Amino acid sequence: MPEYWDPLIERMPVEELKKVQEDKLKQLVRYVYDHSPFYRKQFDEAGISPDDIQSLADVKKLPFTVKQDLRDTYPTGMFCVPQKQVVRYHASSGTTGKPTVVGYTENDVKEWSTSLARGLTSIGVGREDVIQVGYGYGLFTGGLGLHYGTEMVGASAIPTSSGNTERQIELMQDLGSTAIACTPSYFLHINEVTKKMGISIANDTKLKCGIFGAEPWSEEMRRRIEEQTGIKAYDIFGTSEISGPLFTECTYQDGIHIWADQFLIEVIDPMTGEPLPDGERGELVVTTLVKEALPLIRYRIGDLTVIKSEPCKCGRTHPRIMRILGRTDDMIIVRGINVFPGQVEAVLMGIPEVAEHYQLIVEREGELDRLTVQVEVTENVFSDKISDLMKLEKKVGKALHTVLNITGKVELVEPGTIPRSMGKAQRVIDKRNM
Ligand code: ADP
Ligand code: ZN
Repeated sequence: MPEYWDPLIERMPVEELKKVQEDKLKQLVRYVYDHSPFYRKQFDEAGISPDDIQSLADVKKLPFTVKQDLRDTYPTGMFCVPQKQVVRYHASSGTTGKPTVVGYTENDVKEWSTSLARGLTSIGVGREDVIQVGYGYGLFTGGLGLHYGTEMVGASAIPTSSGNTERQIELMQDLGSTAIACTPSYFLHINEVTKKMGISIANDTKLKCGIFGAEPWSEEMRRRIEEQTGIKAYDIFGTSEISGPLFTECTYQDGIHIWADQFLIEVIDPMTGEPLPDGERGELVVTTLVKEALPLIRYRIGDLTVIKSEPCKCGRTHPRIMRILGRTDDMIIVRGINVFPGQVEAVLMGIPEVAEHYQLIVEREGELDRLTVQVEVTENVFSDKISDLMKLEKKVGKALHTVLNITGKVELVEPGTIPRSMGKAQRVIDKRNM
């Protein structure tokens, strides 16, 4: 098992890497200006010409792009190549509004798979492995993305897609899956069904790791998954606009490696748009350095994270992003207090009596917002006396208040009450806008 997919690039000294980025950035601005009426207009309006971009620092001069630009130019108005060069289309799941269409040239698919091949290698997955791909196949980028990455490293892909959980578990046993890629919430469901079938992931399967992403999840959730199933749980990040799932942690589980020869990342203050220094949390902005069909310049993904630039213990020199707190628009404001579902998850998962399934319900009563945190408890706890349950409710309420300063109603519910998800879990039900 090689330690690196491409050691020369993955361990390239930071200064050299920056030079590569600078050269690619200069080529990129020229390319989009010449090939996309959208960018030409945007640059002209901002009074910027490709010649103004001479160094990496000049990236700041470039205007941002946002999801709305993709919507306004739906379906392919931001593409830089004619249809005959497009080998594939995907469309976003539309979590936050009208879906957007993305497209790839042959080389775009190759670069995307290369990014994943590096990531898979960095978590010790390769030729010997059997990867069960439980992300949805179809318009969603998760399934096909992981599939191509798997084939590139020479591992065996099982394209189960999501759903049909009992069959997934049978295949996991019969074909000896050593890794599974799916949303963390779907893996929780798989684990539950496994137990119902009288099987234990730790003892009755060969699974050694999970590649979990497409939705926010917390360190506390990672700990629980690892303890309960005996696997290593790795974080993977990406969005359809920048290709799909692209970047993973390495075995040190200390941030997600972003390949700097392919992508330039910044973190900005979401209010002012000003770049923030390393280590400060803000909104992730990505410039795709090598994409041909749909290059994006300073694309505001909307996810909140922190950049760590120092090289990782694994020897890779590329920058890392730390666990994603969520998107700016996942944030709910309850009586003036900002709450991210991930923060609530972190608090809940620190309380051993509660299980992994939860939901936030926000309602409006008159002029007041009301937050209810529904969380399942374990079978044993649920059969306890009512007075014990009430005590536990109080304990959860108090923990939420201490950590997040929110007062919400806590509702402990029976195991199996909260709907299970096959893909991205719906953690928030905001009835205020319904
Ligand atoms: P949509 O925008 O329609 O949901 P995508 O499938 O492209 O379509 O979703 C990408 C989004 O999913 C990211 O912007 C981010 O909010 C979320 N996401 C993906 N991976 C992770 C992860 N590992 N941790 C937290 N959030 C993630
Ligand atoms: Zn590393």
